[in-house]
Amino acid sequence: RPTGIRSVVGTGGLLPNGELCVVILFSKAEIPRVVAERFSGLALHVKQALMPFEDGPLFEATALPATPTSTSLRHPLRREFSNLPERHEALEELLVVHEQVALDQAKKQEETMLELREATRAAEAASRAKNAFLATISHEIRTPMTGLMGTAELLRETNLSPEQRELVEIVGSSASTLLTIINDILDYSRIEAGELTLQIQSFDLSSLVEEVVWLFRGRALKEGLSLALDASPALPERVRGDPVRVRQILWNLVSNAIKFTEAGSIRIRVTPLPGSSGSALTRFEVEDTGIGIPEQEIPRIFEDFTQLDMSTTRNFTGTGLGLAICRRLVAAMGGEIGAISQLGEGSTFWFELPLPADEPIEVPAPLPS
Ligand code: ADP
Repeated sequence: RPTGIRSVVGTGGLLPNGELCVVILFSKAEIPRVVAERFSGLALHVKQALMPFEDGPLFEATALPATPTSTSLRHPLRREFSNLPERHEALEELLVVHEQVALDQAKKQEETMLELREATRAAEAASRAKNAFLATISHEIRTPMTGLMGTAELLRETNLSPEQRELVEIVGSSASTLLTIINDILDYSRIEAGELTLQIQSFDLSSLVEEVVWLFRGRALKEGLSLALDASPALPERVRGDPVRVRQILWNLVSNAIKFTEAGSIRIRVTPLPGSSGSALTRFEVEDTGIGIPEQEIPRIFEDFTQLDMSTTRNFTGTGLGLAICRRLVAAMGGEIGAISQLGEGSTFWFELPLPADEPIEVPAPLPS
């Protein structure tokens, strides 16, 4: 069987002497209808040629997909088609038509490929433009927003009536919420554009965690929540990693814990874990006594723009991007993130990162001369 053959058309008949007359057309393309029709004409010629021996059974012209088990291929080809010279021309003509159709098909395929390539290129360009647009716009909004917050802060220091003070508070907190949203969008578009670069350096892990807790203390107090830190004494003093990104993830989780907890406590735990391949991992946990999450929804909350559609969460502002950003950041740092929760039972969000200890290099004291 010649290579690359995809279909076969055949016709033939049994001669009275028991010999089989078979005409088979092998094709490198699917047999198109127009060719199959032409071949039926040819099959008719063959049938007519075989008329004088009509006591033998005649085979119909059929287009078959060429599989190794095609029965037509197993027919012994006893008599070459060239033994029927007057039919040879018809077959030649048929082959020309067929070749042309195959060529057309190949050309069409090539055109479709080109169109597809062009469409992919356009889609990629559009996606890049969207990310660039988001990044530029977010950046441009951030500058006046900082000005707005600073001005509200200065205004707060002036002589204000209680009513004015309340209004200034609203301006300040709205600007701060908006800034958080803009920062999320900016971060997301940067990560999407593949522009996330980690700044690995040596930093004091315990101080970083304490700082985050300290910054949230006021907000927790205002909401009547207790905020506790449980940092293992076994943590190395200094580790190597990206402190800005570690702070951002922890910040997001603590911020969510406060947002989704009406009463009770938030507990932050940081513990060193023995890693499987000798590399030490640091596990961070943020446990709250808040509204909780239905167990089956947990994987969904780490997806882009996902906010659970519960009447309770509807009251909260947010983009649904925070956890999606955390997931990407943790993955970029070679770690894992997850949550354990039940509706109404509070939640524990955790992440584990490889943060190798950065031991200070001991400089040997100069030998006494
Ligand atoms: P956002 O906070 O901007 O809505 P996130 O990606 O941070 O977006 O969170 C996605 C969703 O996950 C939230 O809208 C909320 O439904 C749920 N969620 C996150 N953290 C908690 C939590 N500590 N307790 C209960 N639900 C949470």
